[in-house]
This record gives sequence, structure tokens and C-alpha cells, in this order.
Amino acid sequence: MRITIDNLIHKYIDFVSLNNINLEVREGELIALLGPSGCGKTTLLKAIAGLTDVYSGKILLGDTEITNLAPQQRKIALVFQNYALFPHMTVAENIEYGLKVKKVKKDAREIKVNEVLEIVKLEGYGERKIHELSGGQQQRVALARALVIEPQVLLFDEPLSNLDEKLRVTMREEIRRIQKKLGITSVYVTHDQEEAMAIADRIAVMKDGVILQVSPSAEAYSHPENEFVARFMGIVNILPYELIKVEEKVLKLRVFNEEVSVESDNGFLDYKDAIDIDETKFTDQYSLMIRPENIEFTGDAGLYGTIRWVEYLGSIIKYVISIKSHEFIIVDVNRGGEILKEGDYIGIKFNWKKAKFLTRLQ
Ligand code: ATP
Repeated sequence: MRITIDNLIHKYIDFVSLNNINLEVREGELIALLGPSGCGKTTLLKAIAGLTDVYSGKILLGDTEITNLAPQQRKIALVFQNYALFPHMTVAENIEYGLKVKKVKKDAREIKVNEVLEIVKLEGYGERKIHELSGGQQQRVALARALVIEPQVLLFDEPLSNLDEKLRVTMREEIRRIQKKLGITSVYVTHDQEEAMAIADRIAVMKDGVILQVSPSAEAYSHPENEFVARFMGIVNILPYELIKVEEKVLKLRVFNEEVSVESDNGFLDYKDAIDIDETKFTDQYSLMIRPENIEFTGDAGLYGTIRWVEYLGSIIKYVISIKSHEFIIVDVNRGGEILKEGDYIGIKFNWKKAKFLTRLQ
């Protein structure tokens, strides 16, 4: 079932918590809402679930408007961070609770409970008490309880944040597998960009009650449109540059002491428009970004820097390098080659094909 959010505004008294949100979650798709604490992710989820009143705008499920429907009329299930399980009940009792409320008969309830226990790989755990389960198993029960009512939409509010790192990775794969298999349209709130990229079809990055960018998961990392999205999705190097010349699809720049060409493939930036922009306006409006993995070391370079800091991160080594007197850049290198050390003076080569122009932060 498709979800359409149309010009949605939400307020907590005078505070605008969602400012004109437009978003379509396609049928069977999982969209992650990603953004820093307080940006409005949970509020948007609550608005979809009907747990908070909106100020204006519409929410549609398929073609049906649900903006003012009560939560129980929406066929939407929520999976919370704290699981919200009943501790005194067994696993099966927790799962069948929603069915009892709907007055489903006992035999049918038993069949459905067993079905979802199998889906979340907890066959045989029905009689266990909640406190006899691990955190990961409790999260599976929470998911089973959401699935048993056969919702048209699943909403997740940071469902894995109470689990340790390893379990988070396993559980997000599980959630993804189940969501794909059942084809349930889902919205998944997280502030962890890696989790969002791993689990979602598309990512909506939010800031201050606004959606800044919606894009396929990998694109939010490789094709951010502004500095906020770029920084939120991973480490960025913002390079100082001077504009030399604007051509139809290429900008000629001076970066440090090198003359380079950067192509337009960002889409949002039409270089033909830029022809009319003078250099100061352009450099005020756009920053030049390159990710750490798109820079390499070379013996024969136009630019040299000094290694100031080395971090060993599993398969990757992260180098912080100063160029000239004070400009720092971060370079990621796959482990395997020669390992450099602090104080080494090395040649640096940028892969300009991977460089992007971003709208500067306001
Ligand atoms: P987090 O990642 O910390 O859970 P979030 O992105 O989910 O954050 P929301 O919980 O949606 O953010 O909150 C959005 C904004 O609305 C925040 O600035 C918050 O302080 C404010 N807010 C949330 N609930 C209320 C409330 N009941 N009354 C007033 N303001 C609220």
C-alpha cells in the first residue's frame, strides 16, 4: 500500500516540528527517515500512525485519506525502540494480544501466532516469558507482534538502538528479509546513516522539520545535494577553490596550486546557469566536496602534504593530512599497501571525476 504525505505541517503548540513535508513511500518500499536528534523523524512517524494530530496537510494510504482516522482504523503497525512488550505475558500471549483485541477466534489466533513465530525464527519460544529472552529475541517478538495483525504499513522507530553492534547488523538483515518477503510498505526511523543505507530502498534526510533530500540509499552518500546531507552520510573533505572558467558541462578550477576540471553530474547544478554567475557568488553558493576514498597517494604529484594523524580502522587506514600551513584533508586507503606514518611527506592525487559541488550550508 502506497503512503502519500502531502504538504504536512505539524506543530507542538507554537513550535513547527514538521514544516511542509511531501513524501511518497511506494508500495512495498522501505524508506528510512534519517536525521539528527530533534529533526522530526518520530513526529512524522507518529503522524502516519495517527498518534498525534497534524496542523494541516494530508496523509493518504493508497487512495484513501487517513489524516484524521484513529490509529486502530489505519492498518498500521509500529515497532518501537523499547519493544513495548508486556513483561508478565508469554511470547505467544504478547503476539496474540492484537488479535484478541480484534476478537479473532482462538484457533485462528494460534495458527497466526505460529506463522509469525516461524517468520521471525522463534519457533518453539511461544511459552517463554519475555524476561527469559535476549534483547535480539525480544526485538523479534516485537516484530512478530506487529506482523500478526497483517498491517498494510510497518513503522519502525529506531528498533535496534538497544542492541549491541553485532546484533544490530544481524537484526537489520532480518528485518530487511522479512519486509521484502512480505512486501509491506515501511518507514524506518534511524539516526544511523550506515543502518539507513543497509536497510532502506530510499533515504529521506531530515533537518529542522524539513526533508532535505530523498534518494536511493547509495546516492545519498555519493550524490548529496548539500553540505548537510553530505556530512550526515559520511566524512567529507570540503576543498578551497577558485573558479577560473565555466564551460557548458565543466568547471575549470584552481584547487590548492592545481588547475583542474570538474564535470557536472549532480543534476541539481546547471552549469549553463553558472555562466552568468560571477565567481564570488558561485563560490559563496557552492562548496567543492570529495570523499576520503577518492583521494590517493602517489610519488609523482603536483601537490604534497604531511601526515598528521593515522587511524587503523579494520580494512581501511584513515590519514589526516595537512597541506600547506593549515588545510587538513582526510584520506582513506585500503590496508594492504605500504603503511605511512605521522610526519611522512607524501604526494596526493584527487580523483576529480568523483568530486561534487554542493549547496553550501546556510
Ligand atoms: P530523536 O532522534 O531524538 O528521537 P526526532 O528526530 O525523532 O529526534 P522528534 O521527537 O520528532 O525528533 O521531535 C521533533 C521536535 O519536536 C524536537 O525539537 C522536539 O523537542 C519537539 N517535540 C517533540 N515532542 C514534543 C512535545 N510533546 N511537545 C513539544 N515539543 C516536542
